[in-house]
Amino acid sequence: MSQQPETPCAAAQERPQGQDFLRARIAQDNESGRFGGRVHTRFPPEPNGYLHIGHAKSICINFGLARDFGGKCNLRFDDTNPVKEDVEYVDSIQQDVRWLGFEWEGEPHYASDYFDRLYAYAEKLIMDGKAYVDELSAEEIREYRGTLTRPGTPSPWRERPASESLDLFRRMKAGEFPDGKLVLRAKIDMASPNVIMRDPTLYRIRHADHHRTGDKWCIYPMYDFTHCISDSIEGITHSICTLEFDNNRELYDWMLDALDIYHPQQIEFARLNLTHTLLSKRKLIQLVREGHVRGWDDPRMPTISGLRRRGCTPEAIRDFCSRIGVARTADSTVDYSLLEFCVREHLNAVTPRCMAVLDPIRVVIEDYPEDKVEVFDLPLHPEDASHGSRPVPFCRELWIERDDFRENPPKKYYRLAPGAEVRLRYAYYITCREVIKDEAGNVVELRCSHDPASRGGSSPDGRRVKGTIHWVSARHARPTEVRLYDHLFLQDVPGVTGNPDDEGRPFTDFINPDSLKIVTAMAEPYLADLPAGGRVQFERLGYFCSDPDGTPEKPVFNRTVTLKDSWAKLERKL
Ligand code: ATP
Ligand code: MG
Repeated sequence: MSQQPETPCAAAQERPQGQDFLRARIAQDNESGRFGGRVHTRFPPEPNGYLHIGHAKSICINFGLARDFGGKCNLRFDDTNPVKEDVEYVDSIQQDVRWLGFEWEGEPHYASDYFDRLYAYAEKLIMDGKAYVDELSAEEIREYRGTLTRPGTPSPWRERPASESLDLFRRMKAGEFPDGKLVLRAKIDMASPNVIMRDPTLYRIRHADHHRTGDKWCIYPMYDFTHCISDSIEGITHSICTLEFDNNRELYDWMLDALDIYHPQQIEFARLNLTHTLLSKRKLIQLVREGHVRGWDDPRMPTISGLRRRGCTPEAIRDFCSRIGVARTADSTVDYSLLEFCVREHLNAVTPRCMAVLDPIRVVIEDYPEDKVEVFDLPLHPEDASHGSRPVPFCRELWIERDDFRENPPKKYYRLAPGAEVRLRYAYYITCREVIKDEAGNVVELRCSHDPASRGGSSPDGRRVKGTIHWVSARHARPTEVRLYDHLFLQDVPGVTGNPDDEGRPFTDFINPDSLKIVTAMAEPYLADLPAGGRVQFERLGYFCSDPDGTPEKPVFNRTVTLKDSWAKLERKL
């Protein structure tokens, strides 16, 4: 950008964005001097749930535009529905935006701070003959509104004198009427092809306390009335929103014209959909309330807090948002594996490596002295010495992965098998001499010998050993709870199975029953001391993140993502 930022938006640095349609529009406005070169965006969540990855897209767009054009971005809570909103959500939203790496301009804004002004604007509309108090019931209003193919019918109260509407509106405010008895409606056009323009409701009666204004109000402005005026009050230049607000633009323009106040430019973009999950707060609330997940921050949730607990990094989420880009047309459904790819990319660069065994089987090295303990000083990252190292104890008894042994190995199986030799990562070559089984015939222990000359895992005589497996000293291992996650829904689009019998069933019927699997792993001692939120790669198994549920006695880890890179493979195929 050629323009020098005056007050640069404090926001995370990113790879330079290409010239998407939003940036092109804003550059055009700057060139024509439409907003005097100002760029002022906002992120306007309704505090009625936790933020999800779809919101992250909107956050990256709004804060990213402000950053790139040297502008500002507000955080505004569109808090017009006291029944569904809560300070818990207000707090979590601020935490999530900051965690993603963005900082809003000044203090957070609240639509509820504008309730007095909104009320004054409503009275002005009434006095100008552009709004009226209606006595139809909610059901009648719906009926009178008509459909896409049938024009609406005017309410019998539509032409009542302004003075009468004004009197009723003031009495609504004074609390004289019960919920639902009266509404204030804009007087626009009951025959408009845009149904939203058929006298939309502006105010409703709701005897409910608001999380910020307490019991001051018993009438609340509707979202559409509030949203466009709030943007105007804040001097927003570009009101960026998702495509479903396309039809609302006409109403917003009408409103701002009717009140003769400042006009932002609304621009719509496609909302994000992600396979195998849902990005609707209403449905996410249901998952939490009905106990299908452990909470908003359950690592299976597509919420920012869930992704954080799972071990995703803000860098990875921003990279994801930048890769999916922004388009004007058609809602975009993105494959979940792209998110996993971005997470892997970043974690690969920044996480230390350790060893843990998820499905342990005991190995006894018979020719290793009973009471001997060697402590290897092992690098935390094979390619990046700046990570440092950690001590890893080794002794006669070890745990290895059950899957790293086969009694009857198939061809090209290079791990442990009777008589076969394998390299223990960083330690020794061992050869399996004997397989011990329990009465049921299950393998319970492997008796092995080792080659002392292979210390450190290097070949003593040029002898080739193809397989390398990880291990943990059994005497020093810490039993660790490991939570392994799979998609919350197995279908790309939850509930869409292709089977006609499944149509109309509630989405909760399709939750993957195996989305969480808990195992007790054996981990090297270093892992037990990792603080909650600490991220690490378990060699050969994936990236993991220490969970706040853990204690020093019983650490808990979430698997963030496996090492398998299905997206890269997919990309190669395409
Ligand atoms: P939901 O349907 O999940 O309740 P919402 O749109 O009602 O979402 P808001 O709190 O109003 O949620 O959203 C705040 C901002 O985030 C809005 O500008 C909205 O357009 C944007 N947003 C919400 N969901 C997505 C999504 N899936 N992709 C992109 N932007 C989104
Ligand atoms: Mg909304």
